[in-house]
Amino acid sequence: MRTEEPRPVRLADYRSPDWRIGTVELDVALHPTATTVRAKLSISPNGAAAPAPLVLDGDELTLRSIRLDGEPLAAESFVATPDRLTIAQAPQRPFELEIETVLDPTNNTKLMGLYRAGSTYCTQCEAEGFRRITYFLDRPDVMAVYTTRIEADKAEAAVLLSNGNLLAHGDIPGTSRHYAVWHDPFPKPAYLFALVGGNLGCVSDSFTTMSGRNIRLAIYVEPGKEDRCDYAMDSLKRAMRWDEVAFGREYDLDIFMIVAVSAFNMGAMENKGLNVFNDKYVLASPATATDGDYAGIEAVIAHEYFHNWTGDRITCRDWFQLCLKEGLTVFRDQEFTADQRSRAVERISDVRELRASQFVEDAGPLAHPVRPTLYHEINNFYTATVYQKGAEVVRMIKTLLGPQAFRAGMDLYFTRHDGHAATVEQFVQCFAEISGRDMSQFMRWYSQAGTPEIKVAPHYDTAARSLRLDISQIVPPTPAQPNKEPMLVPLALGLVGRNGEDLPLLLDGRPLPRGVIEVTRASQSFLFSEVPERPALSLNRAFSAPIKLSLPIEAGELRFLAAHDCDPFNRWQAIQTLAMALLKSNVAAICSGGEPRLDRGLMDALGAILKDTALEPAFIALTLSPPSEADIAREIGCDVDPDAVYAARRKLRAAIGARHGKTLTETYTRMMATGAYRPDAESAGRRALKNACLDLLALTETDAAIARAFSQYGEADNMTDRMAALETLAAHNRPERAAALDDFYARYANDPLVIDKWFALQAVIPEPTTLDRVRSLTRHPAFSAANPNRIRALIGAFAQANQTQFNRRDGAGYDFVADFVLELDPKNPQVAARLMSAFRSWRALEAQRRARAEATLRRVAAIQSLSPDVHDIVARTLADN
Ligand SMILES: [Zn+2]
Repeated sequence: MRTEEPRPVRLADYRSPDWRIGTVELDVALHPTATTVRAKLSISPNGAAAPAPLVLDGDELTLRSIRLDGEPLAAESFVATPDRLTIAQAPQRPFELEIETVLDPTNNTKLMGLYRAGSTYCTQCEAEGFRRITYFLDRPDVMAVYTTRIEADKAEAAVLLSNGNLLAHGDIPGTSRHYAVWHDPFPKPAYLFALVGGNLGCVSDSFTTMSGRNIRLAIYVEPGKEDRCDYAMDSLKRAMRWDEVAFGREYDLDIFMIVAVSAFNMGAMENKGLNVFNDKYVLASPATATDGDYAGIEAVIAHEYFHNWTGDRITCRDWFQLCLKEGLTVFRDQEFTADQRSRAVERISDVRELRASQFVEDAGPLAHPVRPTLYHEINNFYTATVYQKGAEVVRMIKTLLGPQAFRAGMDLYFTRHDGHAATVEQFVQCFAEISGRDMSQFMRWYSQAGTPEIKVAPHYDTAARSLRLDISQIVPPTPAQPNKEPMLVPLALGLVGRNGEDLPLLLDGRPLPRGVIEVTRASQSFLFSEVPERPALSLNRAFSAPIKLSLPIEAGELRFLAAHDCDPFNRWQAIQTLAMALLKSNVAAICSGGEPRLDRGLMDALGAILKDTALEPAFIALTLSPPSEADIAREIGCDVDPDAVYAARRKLRAAIGARHGKTLTETYTRMMATGAYRPDAESAGRRALKNACLDLLALTETDAAIARAFSQYGEADNMTDRMAALETLAAHNRPERAAALDDFYARYANDPLVIDKWFALQAVIPEPTTLDRVRSLTRHPAFSAANPNRIRALIGAFAQANQTQFNRRDGAGYDFVADFVLELDPKNPQVAARLMSAFRSWRALEAQRRARAEATLRRVAAIQSLSPDVHDIVARTLADN
């Protein structure tokens, strides 16, 4: 309940803790509604000048007893409320505090702290969930060594797990209960604590580290799902090996465990030695998982494993430093995927995602720096900016320093800060020291929000054989940051000659290291000499900086780059740039009652890519997909009509289907697989291209094309092909759609993860009847508002991925989502707040929708009982600055 305006937490107010906790001994007796937790904490003063009171965090806690150095603490010596335990005059010497609390995991619907996912007991402590288990100094710079004893009824929880290595286990004589004792020798903050109890199946394997240590690997899942863990286990072993090779990082405990649970607020959690996963990112079989699911599992397993060093061994000093572990670890998992699959395809996919989510966030009221300086609710800062832009910032350090110096800087970081809670400054300092560079301007990537806009004007001098680039930059204003300083932008570039080959790069007469210029001022010029001919400019190769680039470039030159650039990212980008220009002008035409036009040049360029058999199929598939609706809306910037955006994009895709029908049909056939399904990147790429062809052909609305999709749906021997066909059918209001949707439900009714696909698919149908469909699906027996995966599949997909129906002109989409959020908020505020962020682009909409969205936002904001989570999102979304 919100009784007063919550006070923000500010980076500037950081102080090191007054107290340390050296060891934590937990004794947890699991019970569905009355779990008791005895915590024995060894506490000592942290050298504070004046005696400080001991204030421990809590959240909805019930205190049963408290003892200090073995003696019960007198009632007048402490004050315990559900959210705080204060001992005003704690001894100014080391002492031991024993706290007993009692919890109700079954009714913990927030899924933070100790809760139950189905019948399994599990914990989620990041960011501030440990304080829902016991009173504690719940901040990441308090690192302690944990020993955890768990006991439970054997029938209810045969498996008892916690962080670290297993010390002891056995039956409790004379009872139906048993126990296990785990010890984690590595000091860790409370947010990395985990505990699991349940009846779970286990898949075991082993891994030999580079120094020859044998590690036991175990994945725990619901009994009966053990045969869906192979890919997760294989991904884990590949990730462990890759981290040894790429970063010299070896695993440290004797055992590494993953537990898959069905109810989880996030994707997965990197608790030391005991990762807890949303089962969506563990379970896969060809019959139930798409190629996208397989790739997601590989990436998330790797990401959480990589946290063992970047997050666990070296953690964050405070939550403002969240990007220190997340941005860095996303960078590491993207590099892993690039090495395991195709670097070009990975880079394009990552940038598409960055533009669709982070650029959109950066352009709206929820924009914030990679390292924020203020928050009301830290749960709302697990954002695209912290994760994805945070990864881009690390990638820019590597681009600026080169791979060797970057690796040396990482090595220094691991050596210097192992076992500590670090800051972004300390991280960047390692690279400054290794390279001898001044990184102070670079730090603005952490402090300034907004996507920098870089303008480039090229001037070729035929007589002097020189090329001058006049470059200017601005960083647009964002909330609380009206004025910005120039950024250091590493811009990788190439000068492409008429024969398609790169010309030499001589900047001021000297070869340019790694082909990267460094833009540092609001405006500056770069002079390239000995340029024998007027080149085509290939700028921001491999997307070396997360910027918006504008360059006066002719369509003919873009088509030339699409065909010849040696940088595959910029070949893809050239097509995207052509398509974006066409889409923007067609949206304007549709809005003013005109007809969208066609672009022969773009069609020809796409045709050439489609026929280029030297290209990877996955790359071609990505090239055939025009910019997303969210991306187009962001480029338009104001007075956006989502119906016009959708219509323009669909028209363009239909035109591709019509213009290249023959080639698409041939490609579809050529990409068909023989033999059993394999989830590897190459096979997945062939399926991606095949299914892109299927979808484009169906947009011609011929009976034959729809029939092809319907028959692929029925005959598919794997989920990727079946799901792709269903997606294609879902976009066409034909009898085949209803038939396939009914069939799909009948086939997979018992598999919640597959039924999530069925929910999501229906939620994104861009038709006016969809809202009623979604409304009635909330009453479907397979839907449950207690499970975040179901919510994300149905309501999340509708709000975030259905631009036309969420943004209905009559405002009914807004009201539906807001009402759902209000109902969910008291039970699970974290997921409710996430849904509410779908409103983040409301100011960019045309007037009528803007008014409807604002009315809905104000209606929500007026409610007094909002959680801090939802209140924070709504307040920032409505704020004027
Ligand atoms: Zn992470």
